[in-house]
Amino acid sequence: MALLEINRDECTGCAACVEVCPFGSLRLDDEDIAVVDETCTACGACLPECPVEALSLPPPPARGGEGGVEEVDLSAYQGVWFWVEQFQGQAGSISWEMAGKGRELADALGTTLTACVLGQGVEHVAQEAICYGADRVLLVDDPTLSVYRTDPYAAVLVDLVQRYKPEVFILGASTRGRDLAGSVATKLRTGLTADCTELTIDPETRLLRQTRPAFGGNIMATILCPHHRPQMATVRHRVFEMPQMDTSRQGQLVRHRPIMGEGEIASKVVDFIVQEGQVNLADAQVIVAGGRGVGGPEGFAPIRELAEVLGGAVGASRSTVDAGWIPYAHQVGQTGRTVRPDLYVACGISGAIQHLAGMKTASCIVAINTDPEAPIFQVAHYGIVGDLFQVVPALAQQFRQRLHK
Ligand SMILES: Cc1cc2nc3c(=O)[nH]c(=O)nc-3n(C[C@H](O)[C@H](O)[C@H](O)COP(=O)(O)OP(=O)(O)OC[C@H]3O[C@@H](n4cnc5c(N)ncnc54)[C@H](O)[C@@H]3O)c2cc1C
Repeated sequence: MALLEINRDECTGCAACVEVCPFGSLRLDDEDIAVVDETCTACGACLPECPVEALSLPPPPARGGEGGVEEVDLSAYQGVWFWVEQFQGQAGSISWEMAGKGRELADALGTTLTACVLGQGVEHVAQEAICYGADRVLLVDDPTLSVYRTDPYAAVLVDLVQRYKPEVFILGASTRGRDLAGSVATKLRTGLTADCTELTIDPETRLLRQTRPAFGGNIMATILCPHHRPQMATVRHRVFEMPQMDTSRQGQLVRHRPIMGEGEIASKVVDFIVQEGQVNLADAQVIVAGGRGVGGPEGFAPIRELAEVLGGAVGASRSTVDAGWIPYAHQVGQTGRTVRPDLYVACGISGAIQHLAGMKTASCIVAINTDPEAPIFQVAHYGIVGDLFQVVPALAQQFRQRLHK
């Protein structure tokens, strides 16, 4: 049953609510009175539109009561945190992208930036975190944290958050980051916005504005977390710029102990097997990508050749991946990888918004397309209107000569 209540005596049948309902849940009945169906989500978009205040929603459940949440003293939460993801003692660049953005957010709030470093033998990573902008590092260095496992990592972060109470906590949206963020946010009973493309501070409310694509990438939604802390968000690799490392920076190092002993951890890592033929699109400085214009799996041959000459990686649009022409690991875009190379050569790619979402921050975009109206030309720094099967081999030949390959 819908939660929205309509006062039939007050309703004038103006239909203002019907027009504004994003879910199409309202209509006028035979007597020209608004009625609501069960698809209503109680979003409240219709309330301010009713000129006679005939619409109402029941008050939200009392905080701390049945179905409610505990009252949170928001003023007790201060500081911006980021998680430093590392593997075998080497931090991923995604962590330092979080450091750069975290620094910006902390400066906007006039507060400190804290890095959480978990692992074994990772004190040097803590030092790096300071060089990338952290004022303080919370270091938990223990054999139980030598490889990533959800339970011990989440237990440590939950404990640290409960002790120190940060107002903002950001993590990279890597496989591990997504797993960890979800687990920590759930245990802390706070909100989490995944895959943000922008994070800013609202100067009036000091709330974190978490922006991300919604409805299949057709709109950008800005999400707030006004009642819970910390405000948590994940951000994909290459969305934010890497900050400069400053080896002269000084910071505070605080050591903590792990929460779970080995005997309490359900999962064990038996072995690591490196998958052959992995593509590392996120770190590639040059990407040559093929779209449906390549015409089939064999059409990627000139793309691969140019990528090889330029020392780059091969990217692809989703259409080619869906068609089975190339594995998913090559897909660039909203549901593939986000990349930020120095050079992105888009061959036979139309430039759909979902593809652009993954590559439009490349420093230099070259588009090759037979259609001069293709949207990719709107983001390209250089556009070549032509057949990729002529243009790409010609480019490969020229670069081969000039690079003496
Ligand atoms: C929820 C959602 C998520 C999505 N996620 C992604 C994503 O992550 N990544 C992604 O790429 N897409 C994604 N898509 C799909 C996206 O909307 C487009 O359908 C897709 O990007 C189109 O791929 P394309 O440009 O290769 O193909 P098309 O749009 O068919 O374009 C092919 C282009 O090739 C050109 N062409 C043809 N022959 C030649 C030739 N011989 N030489 C030069 N040019 C030629 C044509 O002029 C055309 O512009 C997503 C869609 C949805 C709904």
